[in-house]
Amino acid sequence: MTLDEKILRYEKHYRKTRAYNYALSLINFDGDTEGPKDAYEDRAEVLGTLSLEYFKHTTSQEYEQIINDLEEDYENLDEKMQRIVKLCRKNLSLLKKIPPKEYEDFSILVSKSNHVWKDAKEKGDFSIFEPYLEQVVEYQRKFAKYYGEIDGFIYNSLLDQYEEGATIAKLDKFFAVLKERIVPLLQKINSSKVVIRDAFLERECPKDKQLELGRYVAELLGFNPNHGMIKETEHPFTIGISKNDIRFTTHVYENNILSNLYSCAHEAGHAIYGQNINRDLINSILGDGASMAFHESQSRFFENIIGRSEPFISIIFSKIQELFPTQFSDVSEREFYLAANIVKPSFIRTEADELTYCLHVMLRYELEKQLIGGEIEVKDLPELWNKKMEEYLGVIPPNDRVGVLQDVHWSQGSIGYFFSYALGNAYSAQIYKAMKKDLDVDKIILSKDLSLIREWLYDHVYKYGALYPPEKLIKIATGEEFNPNYYCDYLEEKFSKIYKLKFMKLSSFFNKLFSK
Ligand code: ZN
Repeated sequence: MTLDEKILRYEKHYRKTRAYNYALSLINFDGDTEGPKDAYEDRAEVLGTLSLEYFKHTTSQEYEQIINDLEEDYENLDEKMQRIVKLCRKNLSLLKKIPPKEYEDFSILVSKSNHVWKDAKEKGDFSIFEPYLEQVVEYQRKFAKYYGEIDGFIYNSLLDQYEEGATIAKLDKFFAVLKERIVPLLQKINSSKVVIRDAFLERECPKDKQLELGRYVAELLGFNPNHGMIKETEHPFTIGISKNDIRFTTHVYENNILSNLYSCAHEAGHAIYGQNINRDLINSILGDGASMAFHESQSRFFENIIGRSEPFISIIFSKIQELFPTQFSDVSEREFYLAANIVKPSFIRTEADELTYCLHVMLRYELEKQLIGGEIEVKDLPELWNKKMEEYLGVIPPNDRVGVLQDVHWSQGSIGYFFSYALGNAYSAQIYKAMKKDLDVDKIILSKDLSLIREWLYDHVYKYGALYPPEKLIKIATGEEFNPNYYCDYLEEKFSKIYKLKFMKLSSFFNKLFSK
């Protein structure tokens, strides 16, 4: 068989993989959005059956032979095919370690546990969700053991699924830097005399107008509505169905205008990444983000660095006043900007201010690490959650709905994902710093045409898809090794101005602390 024939065989096999993904994603999206609630058991059964077919397809003898054949010709493959083969081999060897029956049972379990979580969250009752979460954790522990330890920890093998190369050792150092620099900054802000007016953010804003604002903001940032759609769910998310179909969801609270506004900006960031991945890579396994943290870097970039900037607030403020003429008639643009950036420790991660956000993530990372490490049990989670909230943020959730039950991830079987949000924040600040060397970002935002920013992102991030591991891509995109101090510098600069703090430049010291 010639090399071209081997590649064709792989492509044919991958077409079917894509078809399974397409069907599974659509069913999931339907169930999460407008599919009838009472049909969840039917959906769970179909998802289980299809997942098993998908599993068989991607672990078959035939597929293994396709990869073996390509590996024989590895030296003759171009960079793109070499990376594909490497990733396929990795995924294949991981999947093959899981018994098919357990894979199917797990798919059914997470479909049900997601449904049960919604109910438990609505009622604020962790005990409803607890037995399901226990099973999810049990499965993930078992899977992690099948995958094998990395550097002595099974949790590392879960982290690696979301971020190639991520380990407890690296993340502990990363979070230590954040803690060392964010906590003192937060204390300074808490004792600042600056008072920010923000009560107007709770004024009633009708749902339909909020949805219109969300759509306006998403499209202003660059979301292409012809290649996707926006729906509503309990927990906002983005899903790639196919190369021309990247959808996202939002959630509207009528007495919280920022929630939907920034959910839309966040998810639009994910969707813009997906919609703009290099077309040469889009139909392959490389046609996705470089990692989950890279994905979060794009969403957090559009949500915060752009979306909460003064120039951006300035360009959307007239729209806000047009949609809500009475609600914000006594509010100035500057006041809206300050309110959108107020630092106020709160219960909900997705609505946390930019500064305290990473502390929410750190808490989840620490709990997961202990859960998978077998140091704590599921039943202890509500209490431990609240204890850490008090320790890091100084607030205790009044109930589990705004505490341990708030996030969807564990109910969907995702354990080892949360750190991606914090790492994504740090990536986004490093990318922003590099971008500012080439572009006058504020001026571009004020022009209301962000295409130059997206083109820069295309040249430095989007065009590579998943061609490189994240550690390498951040270096290619920014010209430097990953350094979380850029993120802390960004926060310090921004919030020192807002809260009129004396500027403290600590990065040289912490640079040393975070050596690889
Ligand atoms: Zn996200």
